[in-house]
Amino acid sequence: MKKYGIVVLCFLMLLSACSKKKEKEEVKEPEVVERFVLSDEQYQQIQPNELGRVPVLMYHRVTSDKEALAMDSLYTVSPETFMTHMQMLYDHGFVPVSLDDYVQGTMDLEAGKRPFVMTFDDGNRDNFQASLKDGQLEIDPECAIGLMEQCRELYGWNMQATFFLNEDDFFEYNQYKFDQRETCIKEKLEWLVDHGYHLGNHTATHVYLPDIQSDEQLKGEIGRVEKRLKEYLPDYTMKYIALPFGSSVPASYEKSLFDGEYEGISYHYEAALEVGWMPERSPYHVYFGEHDYQMEKGRTGTYLMRTRGWTTPDSKQEPWDVAYAIEYCVDQGNGYVSDGMKDRVSYPQDWEDSISKTKEGMEYYPY
Ligand SMILES: [Zn+2]
Repeated sequence: MKKYGIVVLCFLMLLSACSKKKEKEEVKEPEVVERFVLSDEQYQQIQPNELGRVPVLMYHRVTSDKEALAMDSLYTVSPETFMTHMQMLYDHGFVPVSLDDYVQGTMDLEAGKRPFVMTFDDGNRDNFQASLKDGQLEIDPECAIGLMEQCRELYGWNMQATFFLNEDDFFEYNQYKFDQRETCIKEKLEWLVDHGYHLGNHTATHVYLPDIQSDEQLKGEIGRVEKRLKEYLPDYTMKYIALPFGSSVPASYEKSLFDGEYEGISYHYEAALEVGWMPERSPYHVYFGEHDYQMEKGRTGTYLMRTRGWTTPDSKQEPWDVAYAIEYCVDQGNGYVSDGMKDRVSYPQDWEDSISKTKEGMEYYPY
């Protein structure tokens, strides 16, 4: 009986708390927000094109280790090269957006700005090198996170990136030099999600997906990463998967690449990220995430092409690097340019055939 009384009392207190909150809200003046709209003159000046392409950059290692750099010039960049890439992007009006805001079409950019997406594969230790000092993470300024935090300061960017992890690589090892296991994995993962970074799946063993033999095998490869991440971040949901070696599963197993369950943990991915070779289409483009080479193999999922974060900035001989992506988007006029309005999709009239008007609450605005 006594217990019952306490429950009722608590309930009453809750009720009064609720009504107090309501009173407060009712008194509040409605906020008048004037909608920012580009003038015709600004349209001509800025020439927004929200059907243009977006570079989704793919990095692996960032290190000044000469041996590692010499062994692999394609997937390993020095901190200097990494920062030169960022400076080039900044100089051309690019700003980072989260992978999810890009895919969902919820990017919030100033008029004239161009979005780019940052991704890192393999969870190498040099992506996030840190140690615990008095309960605080001390971050190596030359690791990828250290450098991106510098970019946040230097360029005023809302820095965001997605790290695709394998089961045994939660920033614990270097690919070529196995360091001792980190002791602050949980702290690092918590720090990442608190600071605008995101985590994705890259399969447990970095498996070559065309060799997958069964749905169970595939679900295990995916589910084991999900399971390990839950040990550190029980409430975190990964929304994307990066394909190891850029290769996908046979079409008969494709469903389990995007949706499935493993040991009671269910997963769903919005898109699978490939390796190379062009900036991907706009999320408002009718062919966003759809590629002939996937469809020819009977696949129907959303696949995103990535631009490789490699080579020296002045090298344009490889048409898949950061310099090429900038040239393709900016100089050749194929890139996404924001109109500064979150609820309007602006595009030149001659792109009318490419628009997909599926996102609700959007005004589609050819000019
Ligand atoms: Zn990989």
